[in-house]
Amino acid sequence: MNNDQRLDLAVQAVVRAAEVCEAVRKQLVAIDKHDKGDRSPVTVADFASQAVIAQVLAEAGLPIVAEESLAELDEASEDLRTKAAEASGMSADDLRKHVAMGGGEPTGTYWVLDPIDGTKGFLRGGQYAIALALVEDGRPTMGLLGCPRWDIGRLFAAAEGDAWTASLSRAESHQPITAAGTNETIRLTESVESGHADHDLSTRLAEAIGVTEEPLRMDSQAKYAAVASGEADVYLRVSPGKTYREKVWDHAAGVAVVEAAGGRVTDATGKPLDFTAGRKLDNNTGIVATGGPQSLHDRVVAALKSSM
Ligand code: AMP
Ligand code: MG
Repeated sequence: MNNDQRLDLAVQAVVRAAEVCEAVRKQLVAIDKHDKGDRSPVTVADFASQAVIAQVLAEAGLPIVAEESLAELDEASEDLRTKAAEASGMSADDLRKHVAMGGGEPTGTYWVLDPIDGTKGFLRGGQYAIALALVEDGRPTMGLLGCPRWDIGRLFAAAEGDAWTASLSRAESHQPITAAGTNETIRLTESVESGHADHDLSTRLAEAIGVTEEPLRMDSQAKYAAVASGEADVYLRVSPGKTYREKVWDHAAGVAVVEAAGGRVTDATGKPLDFTAGRKLDNNTGIVATGGPQSLHDRVVAALKSSM
């Protein structure tokens, strides 16, 4: 199977998963007595999304490195497993089989999947993303970000060095995107969650590089989409947990999209991201993604050196 065929499958898979996730989310909103602290709806959608994507990608015959595991599915309640099977349109056995496919080894050419990135956004009605990447020779060369809550639902994608966006409902109709940056001002984007990214550090960075605007806070890899489409200039992520290592599925697709759109991604020290370390970015600390000129990236990394 060539990369054009892989891309067709990947688009189909993400579009289908986005429908499944939105169906679960809308039910949640309709019931309207959902306890915000209750993670079960997102877990239903996580497993269902991973299973439908694995089912579509099976034809490609490549390993899938995904966030959810069969062990966790088996530990979940009977009710949750029934709902996940229902949401995915599969039997309980097929659900298990397809979730298990996400336990592939990160070697050679493989898929990296976050079935729902930005789970907190999913529950809050904010942004979330279905994030799927193809990694070849240790580099994310293809990336898809299905963002059901971006306008009426957008796909951001990259393959063979091209980056584009399309409506999730008409994925064949591409519009090219460029990480050109916003004009004149510098706009930062960062996580909504201060537990995921140090907001004080980004305030200090903003001062150091002369940003006056409030940061654009969004959940999920939609932040990479913002940089890739020129809606933001800088995506900064440095976990307040000093020993935290970023997970590959939280970045692979976003990195592919930003790079193909002409932007740059390194870790917070300016080092290239190393996707060959396994399921985590063990050799990197934090993330800096920028659009606009290379000089902006250099300025951000230099300013971080003194702020961190
Ligand atoms: P975001 O939507 O940008 O806040 O990022 C969501 C992702 O943050 C999740 O998919 C988690 O894998 C990841 N995450 C969880 N805990 C941490 C942490 N302490 N530091 C950084 N990222 C985290
Ligand atoms: Mg995630």
